[in-house]
Amino acid sequence: MMSVEEAQQRILALIQPLDTESTPLIEALGQTLNGEIRAPFNVPPMANSAMDGYALRHTDIAGASAGAPVTLQIVGLAAAGHPSTASVRPGTAVRIMTGAPVPPGADTVVPFEETDEMDQRARGVRSVDLQRISIRTGTSLGACVRPAGGDAPAGALIIARGTVLGPAHIGVIASLGLTKVPVIRRAVVAILATGDELREPGEPLGPGQIYNSNTYTTAAQVLACGATPRLLPIARDTMEDLKSKIQLGLDADLFITSAGVSTGEYDLVKDVLTSEGTMDFWRVRMRPGKPLAFGLLRRAGRPLPHLGLPGNPVSSMIAFDQFARPAILKLMGQEAEPQPTVKATLDEPVSNGDGRRFFARVIVTLQDGQYHARLTGSQDSNVLTSMASANGLLVLREDRQSVGAGEAVEVHLLQGGRGIRE
Ligand code: AMP
Ligand code: MG
Repeated sequence: MMSVEEAQQRILALIQPLDTESTPLIEALGQTLNGEIRAPFNVPPMANSAMDGYALRHTDIAGASAGAPVTLQIVGLAAAGHPSTASVRPGTAVRIMTGAPVPPGADTVVPFEETDEMDQRARGVRSVDLQRISIRTGTSLGACVRPAGGDAPAGALIIARGTVLGPAHIGVIASLGLTKVPVIRRAVVAILATGDELREPGEPLGPGQIYNSNTYTTAAQVLACGATPRLLPIARDTMEDLKSKIQLGLDADLFITSAGVSTGEYDLVKDVLTSEGTMDFWRVRMRPGKPLAFGLLRRAGRPLPHLGLPGNPVSSMIAFDQFARPAILKLMGQEAEPQPTVKATLDEPVSNGDGRRFFARVIVTLQDGQYHARLTGSQDSNVLTSMASANGLLVLREDRQSVGAGEAVEVHLLQGGRGIRE
């Protein structure tokens, strides 16, 4: 049986990043930049005030203090978007608001609080009628002035190729005046559930039938990777139906099927896929999620990577995380980051007898500053509700046969660790 790592490597070896497209800014969130973003001009473009106050010449106020204020004549007003028409000559100041351009001649801003503005206002002088202002601090040259290019000078590299764009990157790109960015496009993932027993949610269930949940779990996992799911109608367990449903998804970037990869009589997926392309059928040394198919489907042009996930809902989810997610991220120019983990005390013994890597569903809680983990209950691979109640996965390596109650273990957090605080 193949190890998880070997299966991952063999899949990634056949995946190439997709092409680049110019994407409207907000839609590029979470995508990989495939180009450099440089500042086309100084950011900010002009020196501006960091405070509401007075723009002045530092030499005029050097040595000023509360006991020995310096009085200047007010010659103009500068507000954000409204530069002052007056420049600052010796002995004068311009009343200035946050974000307004610092007028020519001024080099320093003194905030209102360090002047007698409030005293004058308290005496009933309206702000438009202020004539003179007393400065009560010598402050330092350039105080409260944001210099032109202080954030980034013209030509500077702002965002490097390969960066996965987050909200701050999106904002920075907007501050450069750009509306589109070159990013690796989102992968389209075709999802095909197979099985005679399956009905879609919303339809009535007949005898022996169950609802198709895998398509929806997988689609949600695809969305969580930043890719686009393409839901195909359920394929029945016949060669003809499987073949015709596969045709519907051949223009995707990755094709995911669910079920039909065990050794049962109706497990036709591997036969069909072998006839429609080249297919490796593997048994991976993991629990849940042992049966896995991987191969390439024939189509015009470059063949389409195909991943056959197991049918049991928990196996499908765990196998998606281990194999589909890294593949989708590679298509989009990204690497799967290691999942966040915490060190927890295991509250009950867990055994792993059969030499496979065991992904145990656990509930992690924080008690008195210490993380604790306990099993969600049944670890059967059909119990999807236990995946929903888990907020962690305890991964026991192949050679780790058991862990005792009270032992310290590393737990991978799921769902952002939701529910950790009891
Ligand atoms: P199979 O690999 O086809 O033998 O399926 C294994 C188990 O997973 C069976 O109990 C199936 O009924 C179940 N299963 C298969 N596909 C789905 C699906 N799309 N949604 C929910 N359960 C499924
Ligand atoms: Mg089946």
